[in-house]
Amino acid sequence: MARHTESVCKLCRRERQKLFLKGQKCYTEKCPIENKNYPPGQHGLSRRTKVSEYGIQLREKQKIKRMYGILEAQFRNYFKKANKQKGITGENLVRLLECRFDNVVYRLGFASSRNQARQLIRHRHFIVNDRLVNIPSYLISEGDIIKVKEKSKKLDAIHNSLKRVKESTYNWLTIDKASLSGTFIQVPERADVPLNANEQLVVELYSK
Ligand code: SF4
Repeated sequence: MARHTESVCKLCRRERQKLFLKGQKCYTEKCPIENKNYPPGQHGLSRRTKVSEYGIQLREKQKIKRMYGILEAQFRNYFKKANKQKGITGENLVRLLECRFDNVVYRLGFASSRNQARQLIRHRHFIVNDRLVNIPSYLISEGDIIKVKEKSKKLDAIHNSLKRVKESTYNWLTIDKASLSGTFIQVPERADVPLNANEQLVVELYSK
């Protein structure tokens, strides 16, 4: 599958916001956003162009896509699915993205970024309801139990990233650090999701 190949920190600088794409580094002073919070490139600091309404909507869409590590075609499919569901389309979109397996592994703290979560999932380190699942886009359902596979329980990557999370960080997840397992209790409400983005702008963009 195609992936972003440019430096992921540049993506954050483009959006002038932390997108948390690099794992542990994002939580330290080494994060470039801490001291270089302007777009990359020769004119990054001096660029002062007026951004159109379309431009603002486009940037917001790019930002959310990049945070969740999703490419355009798949993101548009999530939007179509969200649009068919009852309720507010933008909120449905965020709730759908939160159900992705790679996102849930990241939120549970078994990976320090969604990117690392994807890698660990593809390397077959997790089971869902006692079945091995190695598809990062797999949608987790309410009540699903996610566990680190017995053979993978000593992986440093998992233990290092677990140091970052508290067992009660999210009200839609329970995390048991001792047994390296977690339960997806329910699909989160939009208000509970720590996502610094305006998904309504994505709805406006795709509805044109
Ligand atoms: Fe790089 Fe992470 Fe900082 Fe983004 S948040 S600039 S990915 S270190």
